[in-house]
Amino acid sequence: MNRSARIFVAGGQTLIGAALLRRLRLLGYTRLVGEPPFEPNLCRAEDVEEFFASVRPEYVFLAAGLSGGIGLNWRQPADLMLDNLLVAANVIPACHRFGVTKLLYLGSSCSYPKHAPQPMAVESLLAGALEPTSEAYATAKLAGWKLCQAFRQQYGDCFITGIPANAFGPHDDFSSENGHVIPALMRRTYQATQDGDAVLTVWGSGTACREFIYADDLADACITVMRHYNGEMPINLGSGMVLTIAEVAKEIIDVVGFPGKLEFDRSQPDGMPWKALDSSALFRLGWRPKTPFRAALVSTYQWFLHHVLKEGNGHVRATISEALSDSAGGGGDCPRLSERLHQKSDSSFHRPGSSVGGSLRSA
Ligand code: GDP
Repeated sequence: MNRSARIFVAGGQTLIGAALLRRLRLLGYTRLVGEPPFEPNLCRAEDVEEFFASVRPEYVFLAAGLSGGIGLNWRQPADLMLDNLLVAANVIPACHRFGVTKLLYLGSSCSYPKHAPQPMAVESLLAGALEPTSEAYATAKLAGWKLCQAFRQQYGDCFITGIPANAFGPHDDFSSENGHVIPALMRRTYQATQDGDAVLTVWGSGTACREFIYADDLADACITVMRHYNGEMPINLGSGMVLTIAEVAKEIIDVVGFPGKLEFDRSQPDGMPWKALDSSALFRLGWRPKTPFRAALVSTYQWFLHHVLKEGNGHVRATISEALSDSAGGGGDCPRLSERLHQKSDSSFHRPGSSVGGSLRSA
C-alpha cells in the first residue's frame, strides 16, 4: 500500500472509520477517497456501484455498518442485521468487480461462540452457539467474513477479515441506551455527577470481562494487517487489555470525578461472560498497542465533553430505515448523505408502511 494509493475507508463516520482516516492521514496517505460527507450510501447497491466506477479505490477498509451496545442489540436486532448484511453485500462484490487490490473487512468479537475457550482463537469461530443478545448482528458479521472467503476461493481476491476487541474512543455513540459500555457509562456518569446523584447504576453483575482497544491503536492494527496479513481465516485485533465491567466502571467514575457509589443492576443482561481475543498472530507481525487504558479513557472523555456536549455532533450514522426512505424517495446520493450527517435528531422514527423501525442517532 504505497502512499499515493487510492484508499477508501467505508464507514468513515464510525468510531473505527474515523480513527482509520486520522491515522492514514498522519502516516502520509494522501489519496483518501469517499471521505464523509462524500461517502456513498452503502446500503444502496447502485450508489456503491457508481462510486466504485468513478473513484476506483485500490484499497478498501470496510468499517461500516450499524453497531451498538447490548441495549441496541436487544431492541433493534433487525436493523443491525439488515444494515450490516446490505453493506457487506454491496461493498464486497463491488471490490471484486472493480479490481480492488486488497480489502480488509472488519468483523466482530460477538461472532465468537458464547462459551468459546478464552482468549478466543479464530479456530473457535462457528464452533458453538452465539450469545443470544447479539446473535442477529453477529450472524451478519459472520456472513461478511464468509463472503470475503468465498471471493478468495472462487476468484483469488485478496480479501481479509479482522476481528477487533471492544473498541472505544472519539466518534463513538455516547448515548446511554444505545452505546457500548464505555461511552454509555461515560455519559451516564457525567449526567449523574451533574445531577448530584449519590449512586451510579451499572448494568449487569459487573463480573463480565471484556478486552478493550483504543480506536487509534485499532486503526494502527488495521493498517498493519492490510500491509502484512493475507489469509482466509480472520485475524484477531486485540490489545491484551482485559478488564471486568466493575473495573471499567471504577476507572470511568475516577476520570469523570463522580463522588458517589456504584450499584449493579442484575436485572440487565451481562452478555457474554468473557470476551478476550487471542491476538498472537497480530503480535507476531510486530504490532503492539501504544495507548494505556487510562490515557485512552481520558482522551475519549475529553472528546465527549468537547464534541458531544458542546457541539452536539457526537455521532450520526445512517440506519437501514434511512436507506429504505432513500430508496422510496429515489435519492440517496452524496449531498443527501451529507445533509443527513448534518441533521441532528435523537428521536426514533418509523416509516409508515414499513416493518423496519429505526432511529437516526445523534448523541
Ligand atoms: P458487548 O461487549 O457486545 O456485550 O457490548 P457492551 O459494550 O454493550 O456491553 C458490555 C458489558 O457491559 C455487558 O456485560 C453489560 O451488561 C455491561 N454494561 C454495564 N453498564 C452498561 C451500559 O451502560 N451500557 C452498556 N452497553 N453495557 C453496560
